[in-house]
Amino acid sequence: MNKIKLILCFIFISLSTFLLPVHAADDIKLYFDDSLIKTDVSPIIINDRTMVPVRSIFEKMNAEVTWINSKKQVIIKSLSKRIVLNVDKTRAYVDDKAIELDTAPVIVNDRTLIPVRFVSENLGYDVEWNNKERAVHINSPYKEPEELVIKRINATKSSRNSKVTIFIDNIEKPSISYASNPQRFIADFENTVISGGDSKKTLNSDDITEVRYAEHDDYSRVVIESPADAEYTVSYSSNSMTIIVECEHSEDDTHDDKPESDNKDKDDNDTSSSDAEDEPETDPDVIVKVDRPLVVIDAGHGGWDSGAVGYDDDGEVVVRECDANLAIALRVQHYLVKNNVDVIMTRQTNKALGTTEMEDLLSRCKIANDADATLFVSIHNNSFTEPTATGTEILYADTDSKINYGVTSKTMAQNIITPLVKATGLQNRGLHDSPKMVVLGRTEMPSVLIECAFVSNPSDREILTDDSEIDDMGYAIAEGIIKTINQLP
Ligand SMILES: [Zn+2]
Repeated sequence: MNKIKLILCFIFISLSTFLLPVHAADDIKLYFDDSLIKTDVSPIIINDRTMVPVRSIFEKMNAEVTWINSKKQVIIKSLSKRIVLNVDKTRAYVDDKAIELDTAPVIVNDRTLIPVRFVSENLGYDVEWNNKERAVHINSPYKEPEELVIKRINATKSSRNSKVTIFIDNIEKPSISYASNPQRFIADFENTVISGGDSKKTLNSDDITEVRYAEHDDYSRVVIESPADAEYTVSYSSNSMTIIVECEHSEDDTHDDKPESDNKDKDDNDTSSSDAEDEPETDPDVIVKVDRPLVVIDAGHGGWDSGAVGYDDDGEVVVRECDANLAIALRVQHYLVKNNVDVIMTRQTNKALGTTEMEDLLSRCKIANDADATLFVSIHNNSFTEPTATGTEILYADTDSKINYGVTSKTMAQNIITPLVKATGLQNRGLHDSPKMVVLGRTEMPSVLIECAFVSNPSDREILTDDSEIDDMGYAIAEGIIKTINQLP
């Protein structure tokens, strides 16, 4: 054999070893979680490895696929993994660790085909080859269904009806049944636990005699017991289920509704009454409030609204109120969460909650009211033209809607100011009844606004720019909030 023949022979062998293991292109099926995936280029098998077009499948796994043409490189990125493959090269990388593949990615009809098992398994999916079907099955990893938690159950009554609201994040509709003698509405929530465990409350309402709830093996049951003629209307939001319970009240039923004239005497300059048109006909009484209190922490100002600004003698900005408020608020959140208190923050970054001051303030109230929070704490800092003004004061409001919570805003203010001035050593400037402040007047639950210190005072500013002082303030405020929570009925 001469040299040329040898080379030709070698080329032929190389080609055939490459070509022979490639199976007929159109007979391999690809399934993702049992649904057939249609691909513009059919999967092929090379060296016993099934090769699939990259975009057809991995984007279904919430992985992002990037093709870098200059390097003939595919990058597949999921939340936890970064996989790099190179066309015609067996070296691949998983999170920068080199791995040798037995089959290199190839380009067929302008599509890059990559080894399906290697990538799928690295993304946490199971891969099965079914030889009879000639099909690749990719399956999502089995996940224990996440347990849902009933966080709170509230019952309220008005002159017309009573209402039970069950709060569950990502609620799934329960199975509902009815029973008689005594009449009962029964909701079974699958795979759900009740924060705080089983309990029952006897209610002083015409429509509901008792609300009880209990955890069972794989569901939780809420039972509403009513007089025999009760009717139930159910509605849902994303995080709650509401059952309106209505009995036929006798015609001559007299309610002690307040006469119109008695309905608040706010003056026209009162910002808190500027859009009071959506007041309910009658204020519902909270007759039972079950379990986990929810605290809304509001870091005042933010975004376009920096709040008060503290300058040094050279006119340089030392502290902006919006930043100090947020820094303290985040420490309060930290200590509350550590103590198993549910917290919602109105903001956690430097942003405004509206394009006007009023819109911004009302958004903060809406967050608390929509969440049906138990307590609202707004964190601010003060400023005055005289730099000598110093110390801490707390504004509070005990408007009508707040009365039924069993603890007053003023009590909360007192609970907070005592440890707070002790922590900072700042002067206690006292508590001030301020129902006209929007965030106090318009939130339905007990609420306070803390003016922690003065950004206009040099020594107050030192506290506001010291991380450990900020931490102490957060701790003290959380302490006052937890004391208040412990005083709830
Ligand atoms: Zn402020």
